Amino acid sequence: MLESQLDPNLQEVLAKNSDGKAISKQHAYELMDGDEVSQVADVARCLRHQTKGRLTTYSRKVFINIINLCRDTCGYCTYKKEPSDSLVSMMTPQQVLLMAETGKKFKCTEALFVSGERPEQRYPQAREWLRSFGHTSTIEYIREMSEMVLQKTGLLPHTNAGSLTKKEMLSLKDTNVSLGTMLEASTQRLMTKNMPHEFAPSKHPKVRLRTLEDAGELKIPTTTGLLIGIGESPEELVDSLFLIKEIHEKHGHIQEVIMQNFVPKPETIMGKCMPAPHDYFVKSIALARLILPSMNIQVPPNLSPYIFGQYLDSGINDWGGISPVTVDYVNPEFPWPGLDMVKKITIERGYDFRARLPVYPEFFKRNSTFIPYKLQSYVDALSDTDGLVKEEFVNGLEL
Ligand code: SF4
Repeated sequence: MLESQLDPNLQEVLAKNSDGKAISKQHAYELMDGDEVSQVADVARCLRHQTKGRLTTYSRKVFINIINLCRDTCGYCTYKKEPSDSLVSMMTPQQVLLMAETGKKFKCTEALFVSGERPEQRYPQAREWLRSFGHTSTIEYIREMSEMVLQKTGLLPHTNAGSLTKKEMLSLKDTNVSLGTMLEASTQRLMTKNMPHEFAPSKHPKVRLRTLEDAGELKIPTTTGLLIGIGESPEELVDSLFLIKEIHEKHGHIQEVIMQNFVPKPETIMGKCMPAPHDYFVKSIALARLILPSMNIQVPPNLSPYIFGQYLDSGINDWGGISPVTVDYVNPEFPWPGLDMVKKITIERGYDFRARLPVYPEFFKRNSTFIPYKLQSYVDALSDTDGLVKEEFVNGLEL
């Protein structure tokens, strides 16, 4: 749709955003409550063109499922396992290295370290596992493993281990090019009885927002995001996006916002809940672009396997981490579409498709102070002058 064909109110939104004046919270509430979906998506798409051009990125990763025991219980989670479960993962250094080396063979550039929330606080098995490697906390062990992977393979670590203290993040800063902490939702309502985070104290919005603030004070490029459709109201969703915006305006460290649609999984507490409605999700993505015009906005393609291409028309510019080697251990029920398929769909819709590093170019180009000196040479070895993965690195590969 041409900009001139837009509803005058939405044209005004577009004009204001072009001037760097982002949409007001009140206006965002109104758009979220209204019936209009396609025009809001059109505005978001126009804005994406203004701020990001046609470039659409993904991160070629290997998923290192370091330990999938977890102190907390979220109503939608199938990642968390019990010690007796056949799919429990407590990786040894040899297994971690083997996984990273396999990733390297497949030209991955990201080593994604994922763990449950402080499993050692709940499970003696986790304490024993850590003790056998000389550690008392999962974060200490991840720090050692990320150092090993960085030095032995050159893959760039990115850790998502839940809510971290400032001291823990500082310990990871010189081996991880970025960290991830999902906000999920900023309303405390989801912590109350029969809500998804009733038994997940680490998902308290105050805890998550503190982690995001601390990461900003430490100047760590940070990925965050929302899980959409888990019981938040449309207004609360808007509030969450504005809180991310506020923190980013203070510290400039949020590198991307993941917009993840809730999909119920039968074996979970929320197995009988409805998935995030399509129109609601599309509007959420579009609002993310209107509220954060220059942000990298990501939707994981595997959670909407037949329609993910449509989200390109709602303002997103990234597909997140996709692995040619491992499954998505957080959503193993949803295999990643082949990279050749994601590329085809992206190009058919008129966009460019490129591999990026687990840290976005704006955080290590132009004399940025976000990447420690120690990591810069590893980043330089993999990136071209635009800060994307060197074409020759991935060229000739079967995607
Ligand atoms: S979503 Fe994360 S914090 Fe919640 S139960 Fe699963 S692993 Fe634990």
